[in-house]
Amino acid sequence: MKTATDLAERARALDGRGYNAYKALRGAWDFETFVLHVDHVQGDPFAAPTRVRVVVPSDTAGLPEASFRSPIRALGTAAFLARALGRSARERSGTAGSGRSGQIEVETPGQEVLAQTAVQVDEAGGVEARFGIGLPARGRRVLGAEAVKLLTTTVPALVRTALVASTHDPDDIERQAEVNEDAEHLRAALGDHGLVAFIADGASLPRKSGVDDRPLEGEAVVAFRAPPSLRVTLEAPNAGPITGMGVPEGVTLVVGGGFHGKSTLLRAIETGVYNHRPGDGREYVVANLDTVKVRAEDGRAVTRVDISGFIDGLPLGRDTHAFSTPNASGSTSQAATIVEALEAGARVLLVDEDTSATNFMIRDRRMQALVPKEAEPITPFVDRVRDLHRALEVSTVLVLGGSGDYLDVADTVVAMRGYEPSDVTTAAVDVAAAHPTSRTPESGAPLRPPEPRVLDRASLDPRRRRRDVHVKVPDLRTLLFGRETVDLGAVEQIVSRAQIRAIGQALAMSAHFLESGPRTVTEILDAVDAMVAADGLDALDGRLPGDLAAFRRHELAAALNRIRSLRVV
Ligand code: ADP
Ligand code: MG
Repeated sequence: MKTATDLAERARALDGRGYNAYKALRGAWDFETFVLHVDHVQGDPFAAPTRVRVVVPSDTAGLPEASFRSPIRALGTAAFLARALGRSARERSGTAGSGRSGQIEVETPGQEVLAQTAVQVDEAGGVEARFGIGLPARGRRVLGAEAVKLLTTTVPALVRTALVASTHDPDDIERQAEVNEDAEHLRAALGDHGLVAFIADGASLPRKSGVDDRPLEGEAVVAFRAPPSLRVTLEAPNAGPITGMGVPEGVTLVVGGGFHGKSTLLRAIETGVYNHRPGDGREYVVANLDTVKVRAEDGRAVTRVDISGFIDGLPLGRDTHAFSTPNASGSTSQAATIVEALEAGARVLLVDEDTSATNFMIRDRRMQALVPKEAEPITPFVDRVRDLHRALEVSTVLVLGGSGDYLDVADTVVAMRGYEPSDVTTAAVDVAAAHPTSRTPESGAPLRPPEPRVLDRASLDPRRRRRDVHVKVPDLRTLLFGRETVDLGAVEQIVSRAQIRAIGQALAMSAHFLESGPRTVTEILDAVDAMVAADGLDALDGRLPGDLAAFRRHELAAALNRIRSLRVV
């Protein structure tokens, strides 16, 4: 293998030549303590940066065995190293010429610990990091000396300051693996305890701001404390017994005054489908893996979804057994999102009144008297939520401040007051008895699992202009797929752009599956799940990119369902 010295020589020799000459740097270069792979050289200084990989063998990385003993431990360690690499890259990233010259781009994980491709730790303790570097140029001319510096000084510095154990506090390293393993165990234990979620005592739920997911700090933060009647103890392999509030299966209401922490609690449960980094405050907040947040999303497209269990008899005789629209209303969008979630295998639904359509949620006594049932297509959710659990074994957690009608249908009622939860289930039963709503329950036919939808091969086309696969993620709410723009702003459990990029690649893979014939939505989700489980995220994109992160089938389904060109046979 050619060495780092060879690389330096070659880069120096390119000085002053046209940018394309940089292609000569492709290949593997032995740096003695690691190997640098230059996989794809950018076409010009303004294009996406050159993709490189650094492969650090286990004896250089020096990670303790405990940090990669199991895949789940290795994931915690890898996310930690990726955050360190991101920090180190930010310090060293600069401008060394025109366009992106001198930039170093690392897809840095946020608070969630996801499988990702920026940094991976293998079962022997070896580390592979992938990132982008902007090869330096003035205009379109190679800046040889700058390139030498970037490749042979900066890259080794990144390895030294981020990817080797000796640069970190050993306790800190150990904790990454342990916390990740503990969270995984807590989540796995939920079912045995009849729970859909668990919020540990001492957890810190509020975030710095609506656009900053790091924990809120300071004296104003109220640590979570389970009410005695809902307190359970779960066993974690490293931290030992952990007490906290168990959210039971069935229908759970979170009630309380405005600004008392209801939505913050729900948000913590929402992201409890993921593990969190040590220090996040939500390390031991976990939810059933098939928990899906549903909300109203007017304007979204819906393709042949059977929403008749919730909405039937629309004006102009529109059929809701296979409801399609390019422009859903608040209530039809919320109904469709629920049915799609069930189709993808959701076991728990999360609903916040802040983001729900009122007419989807309730229809009170007076409205029933004024507008007869025959003239109201909607069966309100309050008349469906019990059925969801009884018939389909799907639990619901609802945040409500405004409608007491739900007290009749709740199994558990938690009240938030000054950010402290209390169990008011008994009080709620008394209130419901003392103040009957006098409304007539409006259930139609019993709820059934959604019929499978079969996708046509024309549904998905990843091509755009001369590209076979066009996937771009301009921001955290948008996926550009082929010629489609997919709005993911209302898919609240997507937490990173890297997830969206991976979802885009998974959709391209789905298009490939469809080429051999029609497939149901669930078949496609299963196929993608199986591929990623077997071969990791690289199965989705053979170019060894460093900007993919794991997603659940629910987020893939959400993206699929929001593609406006979708065709159901
Ligand atoms: P609600 O949904 O009940 O109206 P939110 O959950 O939106 O209330 O919370 C209101 C505000 O209180 C938010 O700014 C949130 O960050 C903050 N907050 C939530 N939980 C806590 C807590 N445990 N300690 C301190 N502040 C909190
Ligand atoms: Mg709220």
